[in-house]
Amino acid sequence: MALAPKQQIPSIYHRRIGDIVVTSLSDGILVRTNEMMHGVSPEQGKTHLDAAFRTEFALSINAFVLHMKDKLVLVETGSGNYFGDVAGHLVGNLKAAGIAPEKIESILLTHMHPDHSAGLTDLATGRKVFPNAELVMHENEPKHWFDDAAMAKGTEREKKFMFQQGREQTTPYKSAWRLLKQGEVLPGITAIPAPGHTPGHTAYLIESQGERLLIWGDTVHIPEVQVPRPEVAMVVDTDPAGAVASRKRIFDMAASERMLVTGMHLHFPGFGHIARQQSGYAFVPEAWRQAL
Ligand SMILES: [Zn+2]
Repeated sequence: MALAPKQQIPSIYHRRIGDIVVTSLSDGILVRTNEMMHGVSPEQGKTHLDAAFRTEFALSINAFVLHMKDKLVLVETGSGNYFGDVAGHLVGNLKAAGIAPEKIESILLTHMHPDHSAGLTDLATGRKVFPNAELVMHENEPKHWFDDAAMAKGTEREKKFMFQQGREQTTPYKSAWRLLKQGEVLPGITAIPAPGHTPGHTAYLIESQGERLLIWGDTVHIPEVQVPRPEVAMVVDTDPAGAVASRKRIFDMAASERMLVTGMHLHFPGFGHIARQQSGYAFVPEAWRQAL
């Protein structure tokens, strides 16, 4: 009798957008409680989980490779070794997809939190994981996370996982930083600032041959709650009201324009549409496709 598998296969999914192949890669999964949300009681949290047939708030951590015509771009870098075995699998999945980290030429960050930027540098050796990549992010990210006065106001956990992590992970790339405000990042990629979760939180719109994909970063952390109730902010939002406003604006745009969307915490592989409901929204996952 054949032995039953003991672990999951590599988590990789390809989706074509015009001339660009977008590869969704899983870095892993974090499990969190309703305490990471503002104003959601344990009873309400359980109601949302029951409605979704889930028993826990499990957050996918996704990253995306964009196979452009003449460039290999990585959006986010996963969490490195900051969260133990449950995450930090991005590089393994990249290699399983046949993509050597040395081949990545541009890294786009949506923001500088540990599940997004902590895969940049191997702290044990001090070496860059992506030695040939420029690092692209909104100018307000380093401005905030390198601000000692802002850091002094943070909790110990925020100091270590947000400020210190952001600094130690991005500093080795400093000579290859490219800071943006908004607009074209590369041909076919447009930065759309969506501040609130962090000061420089940014979504990226991918366009090719009339097809579009919005990679919305952390517009949603907990799909079971924040899609039906976009007014629910996260404890880790630097500006909760701003994060809610950005989420509502992005949901409105994506629903009105029937945009294909994906995000870092939508359940892997994370492609789908956002549909307006009587109150709030619903996320409609896209069916798996064989053909590219
Ligand atoms: Zn995140």
